[in-house]
Amino acid sequence: MTKTDMKVFEKLESEVRSYCRSFPTVFTKAKGYKMWNEEGKEYIDFFSGAGALNYGHNDPVMKSKLVDYILNDGVTHSLDMATAPKAEFLETFNEVILKPRNLDYKVMFPGPTGTNTVESALKLARKVTGRTDIISFTNGFHGMTIGALSVTGNSFKRKGAGIPLQNVVTMPYDSFVNDDLDTLEYLERFLEDSGSGVAIPAAMILETVQGEGGINAARFEWLQRIESICKRWGILLIVDDVQAGVGRTGTFFSFEKAGIIPDIVCMSKSIGGYGTPLAITLIRPELDIWDPGEHNGTFRGNNHAFITATAALDYWKDETFEKSIQEKSERIYKFLEDIVAKYPEIKGEVRGRGFMVGVASEIEGLASRVSAEAFERGLIMETAGPNDEVFKLFPALTIDESGLEKGFEIIENSLKAVLG
Ligand code: PMP
Repeated sequence: MTKTDMKVFEKLESEVRSYCRSFPTVFTKAKGYKMWNEEGKEYIDFFSGAGALNYGHNDPVMKSKLVDYILNDGVTHSLDMATAPKAEFLETFNEVILKPRNLDYKVMFPGPTGTNTVESALKLARKVTGRTDIISFTNGFHGMTIGALSVTGNSFKRKGAGIPLQNVVTMPYDSFVNDDLDTLEYLERFLEDSGSGVAIPAAMILETVQGEGGINAARFEWLQRIESICKRWGILLIVDDVQAGVGRTGTFFSFEKAGIIPDIVCMSKSIGGYGTPLAITLIRPELDIWDPGEHNGTFRGNNHAFITATAALDYWKDETFEKSIQEKSERIYKFLEDIVAKYPEIKGEVRGRGFMVGVASEIEGLASRVSAEAFERGLIMETAGPNDEVFKLFPALTIDESGLEKGFEIIENSLKAVLG
């Protein structure tokens, strides 16, 4: 790419973290786990729209259902009105996802994005409990509007907007200090001693595996203890499954294997299935005390997203899909473990769960250099963590063995090139 070309890309975004600059090309086509640029160069996609494309690009079944719906003049936009695609989505979600897992939630449509579902959860928790404080966790990421940003443990993102931590207490996430320091005991002591200044909060909000914060997977025991602390104090537990949900960690919900049941669950990204914007907030039925119209928004009734979201749930109708994610994720994990052992100079640590994995390197800038080199070689791979110290593998859950192998080869060759 020439310098002049690069200038064009620089104009496309401001100084925030910029995908245009990380992946400087113009994409024109995408299918499954592959993308192509305007010159026809093929890329393996290990980014998957930051988790919005868990089923890959242009899934053929979702595409044909969407095209049929459009060709038949199906209603596109309908705010909160009842439509057939919306009813079908709700029914299918209940039958295919909630019932088999013995989960009883009401589904709310809070707006089209992950940030919207987080905002609705924070508001509802305050309304239900009559309290205002929220406990959030170090390196958590929950979105960019004022409420969601105030529970986001990233001072760079908060600072410029002048977002103070109003009514938010940030606590250490699992293993934030080290595996042995019991930070939850510390938290309980705070809660027991109201005189210390920590008012009993309305809710705790967390990701079971932190995505943007560096692929930090909380241990199941830690999550179970969080759940029991919440129960003991009448604090609502909000799990933000915007990135870790929809199969990314190996099960539909990221908290299933931990055996916890959150009071509120936030979902977006891959819930629409096709890159179609949709968010849902799952609420324990007795918490649904919204007054009519109290939380609304224009783009809550995107019927194209309902069509693809319903079609996407076909993947979950039997256990084979979940099994295949788990098998492939073992392959990914093994590849990363081998890389870390083979190249000790990267001082790497494998992190994550399921298809939400990465390597954290102690070598400053290494992850970004590997990602840039991989891009040159035809692989799209993002970095994560407060200092971009993690290169993050996020292939589509539908990727086949050959796609994984091609990606692995590019990663290893990129690593060798960076190490010289
Ligand atoms: N929560 C989590 C865990 C996320 O990863 C993100 C987006 N990366 C959000 C919330 C915000 O979602 P959106 O960008 O759709 O507003």
